[in-house]
Amino acid sequence: MKKRAVFIDRDGTLNEDSGYPGDFEKIRIYAESFEAVRRLNRAGLLAVVVTNQSGVGRGLFGEADVALVHEKMRAAFAARGARLDAVYYCPHYAASANPAYAIACDCRKPSPGLALRASSDLGIDLGRSYVIGDKADDVAFGLNIGATPVLVLTGEGRRARDTLLERGQTPGHVASNILSAACWIIRRERRGPCSASTTSRKKSRRWTGRETSTC
Ligand SMILES: [Mg+2]
Ligand SMILES: [Zn+2]
Repeated sequence: MKKRAVFIDRDGTLNEDSGYPGDFEKIRIYAESFEAVRRLNRAGLLAVVVTNQSGVGRGLFGEADVALVHEKMRAAFAARGARLDAVYYCPHYAASANPAYAIACDCRKPSPGLALRASSDLGIDLGRSYVIGDKADDVAFGLNIGATPVLVLTGEGRRARDTLLERGQTPGHVASNILSAACWIIRRERRGPCSASTTSRKKSRRWTGRETSTC
């Protein structure tokens, strides 16, 4: 059977958004992220980080730096008993001075490329998966891949809520932070795929941008 995954945005969702961090020492992981990932691990959901790292295309740091950040990040989670199953990133920037990165790629969220790559590498059923992120484009990414997007109110989340209301894009849920998002996903999964699909097919009530529950 294909696996279900939770695609997790990095900056503003898993850790504080600090601009374009090129080394791990500049990254502050939210305390609740470790527990969130532990719970997803226990629930049998893959925890897959998907992140736009246009700092590469902007010439702020290289792909080796990104790889090192992610290696250290996965080690930091592992040291706390939490497993990040995979990390995928987009290094592109359309206005890059480097032609290798100056492309209209298919992997910068909200485009689906990162999820499609993960799905083929890991055998993921995207339609039964989730996205947790703090930007309107994370929600759009979730909708684009047919997953259930959860908006968190950390990082850019509060501003994203207004953008989503303007765009008429509705997340499956709005959570205060990543742990609350993980709890909502796990509760929804426990109700089983049948009731979950019934819920998603149901005509949803008009979304007002309010957070609907906490952990
Ligand atoms: Mg973010
Ligand atoms: Zn890309």
